Amino acid sequence: MKDGGAETKGLIFDIQRYALYDGPGIRTTVFLKGCPLKCAWCHNPESQAARAEASYFGEKCAACGACVKACAAGALAMKKRAVVRDPRKCSACGACAAACETGAMEIIGRVATVAEIADAVEADKPFYEESGGGATVSGGEPTAQPNFLFALLEEFRKRGIHSAVETCGAFNNSLVSRLAELADLVLFDIKHPDPGILKELTGANLEVVERNLSNLIQLKGESGLIARVPLIPGANTDETSIEGIAELLKSNSYRGLVHLMPYNSMAATKWLKIGRGGEYRNFGALEEDAISRIVNQLSEAGFKTFINR
Ligand code: SF4
Ligand code: SF4
Repeated sequence: MKDGGAETKGLIFDIQRYALYDGPGIRTTVFLKGCPLKCAWCHNPESQAARAEASYFGEKCAACGACVKACAAGALAMKKRAVVRDPRKCSACGACAAACETGAMEIIGRVATVAEIADAVEADKPFYEESGGGATVSGGEPTAQPNFLFALLEEFRKRGIHSAVETCGAFNNSLVSRLAELADLVLFDIKHPDPGILKELTGANLEVVERNLSNLIQLKGESGLIARVPLIPGANTDETSIEGIAELLKSNSYRGLVHLMPYNSMAATKWLKIGRGGEYRNFGALEEDAISRIVNQLSEAGFKTFINR
């Protein structure tokens, strides 16, 4: 993507207003598309591919066939009152979505400029000022589009809007100093303390993540970074994993707030819509007792926690 200040372009897939759990206060969250990881529990699977993609939601489909006719590439066919797509032929041109009157066909991902996004975000500036909120850049992984991310953060700063960046920590270490300089707050995910398990469940390299965490803590201090732990039943909620996460944070001089994000299974439809329903894995609900035990364990280790549902 070209770096050109407010005219810099990037690929986004959503902008959500009035977000309450993506940093302090009332926020507008901008979701960038593309992520280097493949977390087994991913809640935004439509964010992973670094390209626009077509999605289809059968429950909304009236089986009218308009999309099949509209597809010049011949990527679509009707089978038993459902539309099937050949992904090898689909270029995500959007003709099917434009022809679909029920909203069953959609294109996920669009190119947007920094100025366009900043205008949309700035519209709610009075809410940010009243609540201590601002803009959050999420994903996907925002650092996967570094020029776009940094141009966005520069623009938010220019317009007097507080910024936060949600990151999985899996990015080139050369980006750390610019990220620390431009983001008012970094929300840093810690998913698992064991390198082998982390690699298996997400594809992330713990060494890379930990080095970036350590550098960001040094540069931002505890007021500029919040550690966040997705609580995934059966993956990282046992006592050993939580102890390992606490140790990892302490060994990198972090004693700040830990946001806990309990897993839920609401992403199943999203996996289906992008044609990856077979990859969806339901980790099940996390019992309230388990959440309390984790809060107590982290509290005994010296951390304050906040449950981010
Ligand atoms: S996005 Fe374009 S190529 Fe893909 S199925 Fe729809 S009309 Fe066909
Ligand atoms: S145009 Fe929409 S409603 Fe009609 S068959 Fe295609 S997806 Fe279904």
